[in-house]
Amino acid sequence: MLSIRDLRREYDAGSSRVIALDGVTVDLTAGTFTAVMGPSGSGKSTLLHCAAGLDRPTSGEVTLDGVRLGDLDETGLTLLRRERIGFVFQAFNLISSLTAAHNVALPVRLAGRRIDQAAVMAALDEVGLADRAQHRPVELSGGQQQRVAIARAMVTRPAVIFADEPTGALDNQTSRRVLELLRDLATGRGQTIVMVTHDPVAAAVADSVLLLTDGRLVDHLDGASAEAIASRMARAEATC
Ligand code: ATP
Ligand code: MG
Repeated sequence: MLSIRDLRREYDAGSSRVIALDGVTVDLTAGTFTAVMGPSGSGKSTLLHCAAGLDRPTSGEVTLDGVRLGDLDETGLTLLRRERIGFVFQAFNLISSLTAAHNVALPVRLAGRRIDQAAVMAALDEVGLADRAQHRPVELSGGQQQRVAIARAMVTRPAVIFADEPTGALDNQTSRRVLELLRDLATGRGQTIVMVTHDPVAAAVADSVLLLTDGRLVDHLDGASAEAIASRMARAEATC
């Protein structure tokens, strides 16, 4: 269970303060697939970064399977992230000097585990890139880099995978394939998936949709259709 309690994140921006998250509370059960939606600047990436222990909230608490992230020092947090969390960054964050296969193997190496080449290749195969294993990021298209980032986030089979717009650079067919993969990781392997998306069709693949506006969680839709999600999003955008 990933439990998020009254999460607040303020940033100092020159003389003013930005409230990126303004008291978000939600529980995400293991094996569920959750989409996070909301207008640009509503706090989606900040929520993922704080929930994944990549950023410290100003106040509030994140607890993963009974471990309070706020109680961990930097070393403890790094270890927890390496062992239990996968993250697909909005900007991919691949290492440019490493091949696709080495990028995917990186979390395994950082966790101090033996690199299982078959598992690395299986992860690349699942995102349709087995034939690009030896390519460096500069030799890959944006969508291919995004899929390498997804393979990297899943290779250690972490308890939770956070994905910040994982289908943003993908065509419809590849996007569907990635969404099915994330769906299978949740349903088949019991992993918790948290995905930011702007696309109601992608969000409809998830079990539930969290809607953020101005750093607040304003709605939580369960099992909604793409049409219902799109109309709720349109209302949220009209009021912000
Ligand atoms: P998008 O859909 O455009 O990716 P988002 O919902 O992911 O947007 P965030 O990146 O979480 O939005 O940003 C939330 C708010 O916090 C924005 O107003 C942003 O300008 C602000 N913000 C984010 N990071 C910082 C930072 N490091 N310093 C100052 N303000 C920040
Ligand atoms: Mg973002």
